[in-house]
Amino acid sequence: MNAANPEDADDQRLLSTAKQDQRILITRDRRLADACRSSGADCILILSSKIEDQLAEMAEFGLVLKLNPQRCTICNCILEQDLSGQNESWGCQGCGKVYWIGSHWRKMEKILENIRSSNFSH
Ligand SMILES: [Zn+2]
Repeated sequence: MNAANPEDADDQRLLSTAKQDQRILITRDRRLADACRSSGADCILILSSKIEDQLAEMAEFGLVLKLNPQRCTICNCILEQDLSGQNESWGCQGCGKVYWIGSHWRKMEKILENIRSSNFSH
């Protein structure tokens, strides 16, 4: 999206936190995902550029609309949202893995809201 990425420094921090805390980082930044993997941290790379496809990809990982993951992709236990952290995160009650979403996704949450309010009227 943006050629000059002002969040580079942020990425580095995300990366080291992900590794330190053994968290799973969800990103659609391939460079960040590669850096993640080569440093031994877990991450989920979302490939699609279209928002609808991204959501489908996330759904495959058990991450559902509202950026609200429900099930651990490792042990399939229920995830519980942790509201105390700086980033939204979800902890697995089974294996203790923590899922979290970097700052890149905040924009997406806005878009999600728009999609929901326009497409999913009940
Ligand atoms: Zn788990």
